[in-house]
Amino acid sequence: MWQVVGHERAVSLLDHSLKSEKLPHAYLFVGPKHVGKMTLALNLAQALNCDGEEKPCGQCRQCLRIATGRHADVHAIAVNDRTEIGIDHIREMQHEASLKPFEGRNRVFIIDGAEHLSHEASNCLLKTLEEPPPNVNIILLTVNERLLLPTVLSRCQRLELRPLSTSVVEQALIHRWGVPQERARVLARLCSGCLGWAVAAATDEGLLSKRGERLATLTHLATVGRGERFTYAAELARQFSSNRESVQEVLSLWLGWWRDLMLTKGGSGDFITNVDREEVLHSEAKKYSLTQIKGFIQSLQQAKEQLEHNANPRLVLEVLMLALPRGKEAKETTPSKI
Ligand SMILES: [Zn+2]
Repeated sequence: MWQVVGHERAVSLLDHSLKSEKLPHAYLFVGPKHVGKMTLALNLAQALNCDGEEKPCGQCRQCLRIATGRHADVHAIAVNDRTEIGIDHIREMQHEASLKPFEGRNRVFIIDGAEHLSHEASNCLLKTLEEPPPNVNIILLTVNERLLLPTVLSRCQRLELRPLSTSVVEQALIHRWGVPQERARVLARLCSGCLGWAVAAATDEGLLSKRGERLATLTHLATVGRGERFTYAAELARQFSSNRESVQEVLSLWLGWWRDLMLTKGGSGDFITNVDREEVLHSEAKKYSLTQIKGFIQSLQQAKEQLEHNANPRLVLEVLMLALPRGKEAKETTPSKI
């Protein structure tokens, strides 16, 4: 049984290819962080080596060893955000790939964060993608396929993993991870469809407090002048050069917050994401006009996109800081013209 939660389309495509023995040698799983790419890749590695009837069975020795990361034929290559996946990683993989499977039937290489492949490493990987040795499967995982070489992309079967629905996440948290109902309700809304984050946040209080700090910074910035805003933009830009993803996370969090402000303002508070901060949202929504809220949502979307396209981070973030509307005091209830 496939362990991954949701992603029915991807699972059914993989299942079909496995059963018809027409599985491509290389896959590219595209989707946001924590959406389930690695879980699905490990499930596929299990299916390729499983001894059970219904593959992956999740119970046989092969499946269990893969699930616990001890299988000699299943390798995950991952680097942190600050490092590239260099040519040495790929050469080592190629050497391993040239050997016969040791304990299973197929060697599987999972390259997590394929957007971090260096140019040299990508070119080196191409050789394996063009002429893969028998019984070797390569699965690339990425949050941003635009950063991969087109020649690499064209040699992989692409599968997109979209964020899961809130109800799917909520049910999985309750039934599979035993998270109490109320906590599951909040986490399912906060995770933006990325179950992995919700599961981690269920046990790690640090993740939620980090979110609280980031939202507090945002609220504070709306009350200060250009000088302080630019200092913050410079700080974020520095962070971006070493850890792009964390800056994108901050912007996504802000986007979620401003969408909630729009929903609250428009009287559709039932659909908000930040369900644990309803009261704050209500008081904050009073400080802005709908036009201001919409305008800043647009600026956030633009900034996220420009950063993905490698625009100058400091410039993008400074422009964003200028676009952040200054909130009126909560007691002022009459909207003024913009
Ligand atoms: Zn099995």
